[in-house]
Amino acid sequence: MIVGDEGDYVVRAGSVLLRQVSIGGRIVDIAIGDDGTIAAIGEGIGAEYKGDAEFIVEGKQDIAIPGLVNTHTHAAMALFRGYADDLPLHEWLTSKIWPLEALLTGDDVYHGTRLACLEMIRSGTVAFNDMYFFMKDAARAVTEMGMKAVLAYGFIDLFDEERREREIRATEEFCRWIGSLRNPSIRAAVGPHAVYTVSTEAMKWLADFAKREGIIVHVHLSETEREVAECEKMYGRRPAFVLDECGLLTERTTAAHCCWLDQQECNLLGKRGVHVSYNPVSNMKLAVGRAIPYQWLKEAGANVTLGTDGAASNNNLDLMEGMKFAALLQKFFWNSQTILPAHDTLAMATSSGARALGFGDGRLMAGSPADIVLVDRYAVCNTPLHHLESNLVYSCTGGSVKTLICSGKVLMQDRVVFDERKIIEDAAKAAQRLLDRLGEQVIQEH
Ligand SMILES: [Zn+2]
Repeated sequence: MIVGDEGDYVVRAGSVLLRQVSIGGRIVDIAIGDDGTIAAIGEGIGAEYKGDAEFIVEGKQDIAIPGLVNTHTHAAMALFRGYADDLPLHEWLTSKIWPLEALLTGDDVYHGTRLACLEMIRSGTVAFNDMYFFMKDAARAVTEMGMKAVLAYGFIDLFDEERREREIRATEEFCRWIGSLRNPSIRAAVGPHAVYTVSTEAMKWLADFAKREGIIVHVHLSETEREVAECEKMYGRRPAFVLDECGLLTERTTAAHCCWLDQQECNLLGKRGVHVSYNPVSNMKLAVGRAIPYQWLKEAGANVTLGTDGAASNNNLDLMEGMKFAALLQKFFWNSQTILPAHDTLAMATSSGARALGFGDGRLMAGSPADIVLVDRYAVCNTPLHHLESNLVYSCTGGSVKTLICSGKVLMQDRVVFDERKIIEDAAKAAQRLLDRLGEQVIQEH
């Protein structure tokens, strides 16, 4: 079925045959059913499936890997890329980011999210975990772009009862609306922003609501030292324990950052089966002062995954690049050459992320969702090819991704994404309109 058409490129969904791709050094074909799952993988199976395939992609020996999964981002912040950098954290937030966010419209979020999806598709990401505002507009963008996402309305009550009631209604309404779409690629989550912006009353309500609805919890946890100190002052306990008392640490929970967890908190997260989103680039850019205690989390059995955070604190959504930062930051901070090797880093960005978001197992196997990325076999970063995982993590960036298939839909082929020029132009205009509104507001205020 052809779902879009521009020039000589179309987005195709239906049965697909991927011919002559490299998996583990073997050249194989991958047959994808029209239900969006992998029907078969094997040498020479193309002949058998060719007749049924509605669409054939020539792999040209490119390397097939599972699609990457970005477990923490604020996609629409792609509009803020490069707007404010190299500032102290508090000044960055209060003088730059929050004034712009206050002027955001649903239309901005739609265009920003489309831009973010385009960037993620181009760099090998098939699914992401998003927390922001105007999330119906984000859902519309994700649907059009063909990706998979878990979307949370960012819940912030600032300990105010009236605001809490409003946020509760907004959360309920959004989650029911997402449910009514009956789109398996888009799921709702609850999004308690963090312990310093959300009351315990609200966190308890969110935990109950998420349990009743069987949906994911997406929360920021212990990003900065200051946040931990303030939490201890306010509650007499560290943040992970406060979340746990509210019922927010579950097997459906993804906790972003987790830089300042102590060993007891890591054990608690492991015991509760929590998924952790490690955001190395954002952590380094915002100088949070500590890398996540990966070893403790791993020993405790927590599932550590990878995220980019928003483009304002990264400044891209390239998870291929993020893998390198992930491994290097652990090695540097924890003074160990052997911590977080390439194999584990790749798993973090693929199978661990897919598991956290409930989008399959993140592996290339018959029966798995057809979330497949083809990386250029003949790129400089893959030459020589002594050790594929080393090349993928330490040498390649998103620019080496040639083709991306999400739930069996070919969203990029040979580096061409449907409607790319228009997505970029529309996003640039939306960013400019946002700045224009900021200018007007400044004039009105003075
Ligand atoms: Zn964040």
